[in-house]
Amino acid sequence: MFHFNIITNLVKRYALVSAIAALAGCDAAQDNTTTTATTTTAANAASSINGESIIRGDASNWLSNGRTYDEQRHSPLDQINLDNVDDLSLAWYWNTGTKRGLEATPIVVDGIMFTSGAWSMVWAHDAKTGELLWEFDPQVDRAWARYACCDVVNRGVAAWKGKIYIGTIDGRLIALDAGTGEPVWDINTLLPDRPYTITGAPRIVKDKVVIGNGGAEYGVRGYVTAYNTETGAQEWRFYTVPGNPADGFESDAMREAAKTWIGGKWWEVGGGGTAWDSMAYDPELNLLYIGTGNGAPWNRYIRSPGGGDNLFLSSIVALNPDNGEYVWHYQTTPGDTWDYTATQHMILADIEINQEPRKVIMQAPKNGFFYVIDRTNGEFISAEAYVPMNWATHVDPETGRPVESPAGNYANDSKRVKPGPLGGHNWHPMSYHPETGLVYIPALDLRFDYAQDNAFKHSPKDWNLGTDFKETIPTADPAELIDNLQSIRGFLAAWDPVTQKEVWRVEHATTWNGGLLSTAGGLVFQGRADGQFAAYRADNGELVWESPVDVGIIAAPVSYAIDGEQYISVVAGWGGAYALTSGAPRHKGNVLTEGRILTFKLGGEAQLPETQITYLNVPEPQKMAYSPEQRAEGELLFARYCAVCHGPGAGTVGPIPNLLYSGEDVHAAWDAIVVGGARENKGMPKFDHAMDVAGSQAIRAYVIDMAKNTIALCESDLRVQYPELLNPACQMSVATSAESAGR
Ligand code: CA
Repeated sequence: MFHFNIITNLVKRYALVSAIAALAGCDAAQDNTTTTATTTTAANAASSINGESIIRGDASNWLSNGRTYDEQRHSPLDQINLDNVDDLSLAWYWNTGTKRGLEATPIVVDGIMFTSGAWSMVWAHDAKTGELLWEFDPQVDRAWARYACCDVVNRGVAAWKGKIYIGTIDGRLIALDAGTGEPVWDINTLLPDRPYTITGAPRIVKDKVVIGNGGAEYGVRGYVTAYNTETGAQEWRFYTVPGNPADGFESDAMREAAKTWIGGKWWEVGGGGTAWDSMAYDPELNLLYIGTGNGAPWNRYIRSPGGGDNLFLSSIVALNPDNGEYVWHYQTTPGDTWDYTATQHMILADIEINQEPRKVIMQAPKNGFFYVIDRTNGEFISAEAYVPMNWATHVDPETGRPVESPAGNYANDSKRVKPGPLGGHNWHPMSYHPETGLVYIPALDLRFDYAQDNAFKHSPKDWNLGTDFKETIPTADPAELIDNLQSIRGFLAAWDPVTQKEVWRVEHATTWNGGLLSTAGGLVFQGRADGQFAAYRADNGELVWESPVDVGIIAAPVSYAIDGEQYISVVAGWGGAYALTSGAPRHKGNVLTEGRILTFKLGGEAQLPETQITYLNVPEPQKMAYSPEQRAEGELLFARYCAVCHGPGAGTVGPIPNLLYSGEDVHAAWDAIVVGGARENKGMPKFDHAMDVAGSQAIRAYVIDMAKNTIALCESDLRVQYPELLNPACQMSVATSAESAGR
């Protein structure tokens, strides 16, 4: 987050009008094409999903988030392969009508696709034709968007015995009738008075649906809960960090964990450790694996000033799924202070290491090390860096602990650290190809300037990091600008978990690319941030096919078969943490059209509508007289309250309005929006708890000043000198597709 400093001044790629339209909610009702025949089919399809079918992993279906409980995300289908991938083309597409990030992995069963999108909406489609069978909108209060650190995204539904399960951004877990999309039960999973969200896909083990939550940036205590799939009744809850010792402990695990939190009152902010994404399950060992997140606040010198590992932050925790009891843990980043979550995708595989067959769990968490762990007992096997890093030198093979470097310690002075808080790898799923033996990683190579926030004070409605973002706000140094632009990297890595070495790599033009699918056809599929959906050779990374889709892809593809034909599907919609919080320009192929579900097959004959693109410059700034002090106050307030969505320097390239392009109407209503909440129903919260009209006007002064700076920079010689780097940043592309976004 906030990696890209001054570039953000330049970046203007979004039209306020279309963004507001995209945020406007679900007022554009879609045709409901539900028929008796299709509801029966959808109901029948989902009714066949149970533990046995997920374990069996029938190749024509995709029954669980990672396809099977081992979460390998590898399809045994090989009809589409190296010999014929040239003939792969679009079979159907369906526009979601939203312009927020889409991160979901679809569930596909017996010809029906169930998927989710922005604002926790759920759709059922005929997976062969794309016909919409039903949709469900949980009517999330748009004002809850203020607690979604990383966009109002959802990573997918779960299906089980005739029902579809969705966790919502406002913290509910809802069971839907798979045939009709009607709610069967709808429960609140949240502890009261804390800003939790749910973005992860539920997993279902033995008639229990398991879900965690997010919110560690704001200040919460992490936990996962299992509910009865039929009734929604709570079966068990496992807290990932201890609460206030004065209140007693829920379990022995929490009593032991509390010994690793030394000094401080972590429970006041919450402690963190949220399990907001990955899980895996080994039915033979009967172990459920949970990936846990960063500390709340981030800064350990504030959170736990006496030191300690702070269990179970940034850990893989193995639980007994029958009762939620702790079995073992492995902590990737003891005492995390950099937002190095271990919520990243975990893969189970049986591989041979030193001539010994080993049951392993593999993870590439944010901290930059690729881990191979014995999944029977949590024993460390090996770890090596899969991205450039400077916070640690290596993982000690004796202790299994990272050896920290002074380069990562920001207790006393600001440090430029790799990886940054977006990690060497974020939530974007990896895949494991049993035949090549390789793990494919959608890797990020990004840096971040961390500094201690010496004035930290818990503020329950806002981010609570204890890490100062003011330090990383734009400076007007052209050399640094260019350096920043050039430092933004992302690549696809093929990693050998046995030798712990990279076998091949594809460097991408930009970062924050999509999750992965590998197939028995010798292919690795990945959507990219530059608006292309691509296939690479699984053995050497050669690009063998790609297709433009007009919007950046971040989700992972799936594969399935109907009537003997293989399909590849991916959900495309630019957004998420990087899009919101960075100011790095989008690549020209990513024009931020509305989100789409795209399905490809050999000889597909569908065509995307042509996207008309208009390029805009920053408009002439509004007239406003302001003092340097007022601007400085605005900069401070903007950094604390606005930048996480509107981008540092007000130059977001994500789906939220870029304020440099605000028109007269927005400026006229500025205080009514910022203090009065005039656009709460569109996802823009009010900040009356944090500022009055004077503060709101100071922010306005800062935004106007940034617009002036941007215009000056884009008209300067620097643009002539570095056209490739600065042209995309100086021209906002606006898509005006015939099929415009309605929500
Ligand atoms: Ca985090």
